[in-house]
Amino acid sequence: MKKILSTTIVLGLIFISLSSKAQSNKCATMTILNERIEKDPAILLRMQQSEIETQKWISANRSAKKTQVLVSIPVVVHVLYNNPTQNISTAQIQSQIDILNDDFGLFNSDSLDNSHPFWQYTADTEIEFCLATRDPNGNATSGITRTYTDSLSFIGDGNEKYTATGGEDNWDPTKYLNIWVCDLSASGGTLGYAAFPSDLVSDPDEDGVVINYTAFGDIGTATAPNDLGRTGTHEVGHWLNLSHIWGDTICGDDFVADTEIAEDANYGCPTFPHNANSTCGSGVNGEMYMNYMDYVDDYCMVMFTFDQGTRMQSALNGDRAGLLTSLGCSSPSTINEVLLENTFNIYPNPSNGNFIINAQLTKNENVSITLYNLVGAKIQQFDNVNNYPFLMSLNDLPNGSYFIKFNSGNNTITKKVFVSK
Ligand SMILES: [Zn+2]
Repeated sequence: MKKILSTTIVLGLIFISLSSKAQSNKCATMTILNERIEKDPAILLRMQQSEIETQKWISANRSAKKTQVLVSIPVVVHVLYNNPTQNISTAQIQSQIDILNDDFGLFNSDSLDNSHPFWQYTADTEIEFCLATRDPNGNATSGITRTYTDSLSFIGDGNEKYTATGGEDNWDPTKYLNIWVCDLSASGGTLGYAAFPSDLVSDPDEDGVVINYTAFGDIGTATAPNDLGRTGTHEVGHWLNLSHIWGDTICGDDFVADTEIAEDANYGCPTFPHNANSTCGSGVNGEMYMNYMDYVDDYCMVMFTFDQGTRMQSALNGDRAGLLTSLGCSSPSTINEVLLENTFNIYPNPSNGNFIINAQLTKNENVSITLYNLVGAKIQQFDNVNNYPFLMSLNDLPNGSYFIKFNSGNNTITKKVFVSK
């Protein structure tokens, strides 16, 4: 919950939140940030400047309800192993990429029911991920590096990020999301940690996300209760400038307007409503403990909000804008073709039944738009759609999930939408 919009107060709150005691070792992002700020106070100043730019972008774009452009982020996974178990399978790596796409795209099968009071805030962030297919030199890649390390376990001090200290140097962090997967058991229980966007310019070699190999993906070495890949979702949320839902201090601020204020971190899986009408000011529905940026168990965290999505889009239009022009998700041999594909965006989503569709058409091809229900039955089809924005009214449909398929030439794109009246 964003409590106050005043820039001065916002900056004060950043300082307060960074001064608070770390709540847990589960995610070490803020602990590590605090340690770095103690050594170099200029980091805090850069965060404050970045926050001013973030708030400017959000106020300009949120009020205008502009279409968010679907962004594909290329991911390189650096596997660091001291024994064969830590050298996790490609299938396990792909499972984490799939989970990121499910969670950021609201394709997760465990999302809130549309009768839940917080369903109205649940969002498709318009952010997707691919295992990189093109490396920084333009060559084909699997998007995975595998490095034997003498280190029995890393402690979360950054050694994972450098070849010289038993890790692996990151790829150009302005063009790729670097994820290191390694043994973090010596760190005291840390599942992962991330660098914030405001660190990118000053500490590019440190940019990326580190995740314990037992909390990565949902197969292989993934271990309950951290075995649904939500550590990845949470840490990539930080990497795209999201804070913890409780603002890392009692009744703190996460600079997001539509997340309920939370008193503190939540663990396990509380019962809804949790901590309703708290002294912090949570409403009758209590805290949004099921948000990916809380500390609940993997199976319990199921949502990002619209304003969290906007904040992440702000990062992609600010400190992380280099990703918008990355070719990392393109195949080296077919780059020109890939860049010429048509793209489509739908907003708002969920909606009361009126969806607006925008397109970036790079090919002059007839576009057909077809609506399907969840079991694949065709409900409605529009052919030769060539005027955008295109309004698609689904007012007569019952609440629930639907698929919209776009066909243009050989290009087919399917998106999930939600009707919630
Ligand atoms: Zn965290």
